[in-house]
Amino acid sequence: MANCSFFTDNVNLLVKLRSFVRFDRCLALACSVFATVAFSAQPMLQDKQWNHGSADCAVNKDPAIEVHSYSSTSYILRQNKCQSFEAPFMYLLIGEDSALLLDTGATADAVAFPLYETVNALVGEKHLLVVHSHGHRDHIAADPQFDNREGVTLVTAGGSGNLETLGIMNWPDGEGRIDLGGRELRVIPVPGHQEESIAIYDPETQWLLTGDTVYPGLIYVKNWDDYRMSIARLARFASANDVSMVLGAHIEVTHRQGEYYPVGTSYQPEEAPLPINPATLSLMHTELEKLPKANEVELARLRIIPMNLMQRTLTDFARWMMK
Ligand SMILES: [Zn+2]
Repeated sequence: MANCSFFTDNVNLLVKLRSFVRFDRCLALACSVFATVAFSAQPMLQDKQWNHGSADCAVNKDPAIEVHSYSSTSYILRQNKCQSFEAPFMYLLIGEDSALLLDTGATADAVAFPLYETVNALVGEKHLLVVHSHGHRDHIAADPQFDNREGVTLVTAGGSGNLETLGIMNWPDGEGRIDLGGRELRVIPVPGHQEESIAIYDPETQWLLTGDTVYPGLIYVKNWDDYRMSIARLARFASANDVSMVLGAHIEVTHRQGEYYPVGTSYQPEEAPLPINPATLSLMHTELEKLPKANEVELARLRIIPMNLMQRTLTDFARWMMK
């Protein structure tokens, strides 16, 4: 597979860390005519099989970035698993005036991983705001592709301008707003997996984008109390607002309950669907509140795991290394 620059150089470290820190136009016409919450489109995303790597990456012919067009204004991008075992999902939401890209993937190299080029072709002349679900390396690696580009505002994860740009005045109990023009996104602080983690709600698709805070896989939690309160916050949000799907940044489990892929694998046949039912948030909240102290929680397609002291120290070290 293509050269992955920084990532390749550090893959061994990241695999080790990960073992600790688990970290096309909507096919159609059917769902693109009205960009509002096309309920009929949901089964399409629920049933979608993403490119999922190869047992032998030397023969993998999938593109570096799979682009799924949910509608003409809402795209889901996934990095090739043969390029990064993390295979993160990224989200592109386009309003009347500007667009928002959530996360920049796991590879910096613009030749191997042409994220800016791909996104720019979809956004056209509109202004692009790049933000991050959180600051782990597999969500920010291609930031340099967007840095100092005309018409692009890059907000560094956890940076000093982050809260201001996201419109969050009161962290973590407040909420931010990002107006893309006829599409006002809501930003919800969800610290726990990482200090600066956020979720984004899009009223057009009614998607709740949760990064590594909620996704089908092994969710490692750095600060248990923060995470418990963040899940409570998300559960409250989902009960008070129309949420069609919860969409995270990875898939790490098969469609069979409790069957997780080995950490670092380049091949994930029979993946679970990306969308998570919003009702799962209240289930997570209930289970977390039952526990007197941090402990593993096992649900149908996700497992919540508290980091131990060594794991937290390693994440702090990785965080320091990236600054
Ligand atoms: Zn993460």
